[in-house]
Amino acid sequence: MDKQVIRIIKGDITEQEVEAIVNAANSSLLGGGGVDGAIHNAAGTKLLEECRTLNGCATGEAKITQGYDLPAKWVIHTVGPVWHGGNSDEDRMLARCYRNCLKLAAERGIKTIAFPSISTGAYHFPIQRAAEIAMNEVISFLNDRPVFDRIVFVCFNDDTFSSSNRVLNERIK
Ligand code: ADP
Repeated sequence: MDKQVIRIIKGDITEQEVEAIVNAANSSLLGGGGVDGAIHNAAGTKLLEECRTLNGCATGEAKITQGYDLPAKWVIHTVGPVWHGGNSDEDRMLARCYRNCLKLAAERGIKTIAFPSISTGAYHFPIQRAAEIAMNEVISFLNDRPVFDRIVFVCFNDDTFSSSNRVLNERIK
């Protein structure tokens, strides 16, 4: 695997110049707070109109829409698990989010994609544990199907940024 494909940055996902950004949505897909609110604000009301046609999304699944006013052409909406202490299938569900987003992007021929730290805001998934799952899924997908030019982890705060860097440095020596 070419390690240059994976990037970790501190920033706002709505500003990323990639083909697709991932939204950490809720199961209604009708908008919310955090990164979901930021993406809807930046994309404009047409995004909500398209989301209304999708009939929601189950935890661990992913659905794609256009990006409208965003620099990104596409938004891949996924629904992360709510953290209930770790014994409610949270790890497996979070892994499925990353895998299903990558799968959907690959099917569409998307080569550049940016992820937020899914579930670690309002859904309270522990940051370091989430970073490990995210990195594992991205690395194993790339090992299997090296179809991406760039996969960006967009970290909104210092904790997420340092955890992600720590995990990547451990995985790629
Ligand atoms: P969830 O409900 O899945 O936990 P949140 O949006 O509450 O989703 O939080 C997920 C992560 O997204 C958190 O690390 C939060 O700080 C981050 N975040 C919030 N706004 C943005 C943004 N504009 N760009 C990137 N990440 C963001």
